[in-house]
Amino acid sequence: MVEILRGDRVADAVCRRVAEDVAGLQASHGIRPGLAVVLVGEDAPSQVYVARKLIKAREVGIVSFEHRLPIETAEHDLLRLIAGLNADPAVHGILIQLPLPPQINATRVLDAIDPSKDVDGFHPVNVGRLSTGGDGLTPCTPLGCMLLLDTVISDFRGLKAVVIGKSNIVGKPVALLLLERECTVTVTHIHTRNLPDIVRSADIVVVAAGAPRLVRGNWVREGAVVIDVGITRVIDDEGRARLVGDVATDEMDHARVVTPVPNGVGPMTIACLLSNTVKAARAAH
Ligand code: NAD
Repeated sequence: MVEILRGDRVADAVCRRVAEDVAGLQASHGIRPGLAVVLVGEDAPSQVYVARKLIKAREVGIVSFEHRLPIETAEHDLLRLIAGLNADPAVHGILIQLPLPPQINATRVLDAIDPSKDVDGFHPVNVGRLSTGGDGLTPCTPLGCMLLLDTVISDFRGLKAVVIGKSNIVGKPVALLLLERECTVTVTHIHTRNLPDIVRSADIVVVAAGAPRLVRGNWVREGAVVIDVGITRVIDDEGRARLVGDVATDEMDHARVVTPVPNGVGPMTIACLLSNTVKAARAAH
């Protein structure tokens, strides 16, 4: 019988640890970790994500600095704000909520963040550290996937891992993290041929495609561990909006573990953002 691995429970444990670390930093060094969150425009899902991040930050004792900018904000104004946050010693982490409006070049903006405050782990310096196995700030969703895998796998060496999706924010970094653990990693994408056959060879499957029910039961080998990163908002038969993942979870009885959507990887992403903020605060002092 497959185990449904609830990310929200693991995330709660991570957040409890982060809260202890925050209290410890304050008691020993008088440091209160600070996270700046920047939202440009009024994209509805982004507003929900930002609200969740701010609530969780407050819960663990991290100070948050919220910057809401109008949709017509010019790139140079956003860059000026980032320069100010880079220079502010009370800010240890800077998060720019994506997507940004079309007049703003997201790469230029993310590259402008001080790498030591880049709690999303998207800056080229942190990407470089990740690919060379150095100690940088690791992207939150891939880190969350690894923490989930750590709860069910003790030795990754030699395991065959298949990652579906090659984005810079999920697919590529999660592949590098799995490689760092000595897995044999295959990264696949929309143009990969014979995807079901490749997935069938995997002990670990991480799916980040944004394609509902892409991974079917007969794609997955008996005893595999399946991490479903995908989140797609769909309207069900009763006209209600709901979130679905990339995995046909109801067909996974023969797998060892599968993460649900919602309450799977999503809460881990926020927990890892907070843990990265504490890591950045500790490194800054
Ligand atoms: P993206 O669109 O940047 O990349 C998707 C990747 O999947 C691409 O490499 C593409 O080639 C591949 N792909 C798409 N359809 C495919 C198919 N049918 N077969 C094989 N490969 C396919 O997306 P992303 O930003 O990496 O996000 C992926 C999914 O993960 C989305 O649903 C997103 O909402 C979700 N996500 C969740 C979290 C979280 O916290 N849980 C965080 C980030 C992204």
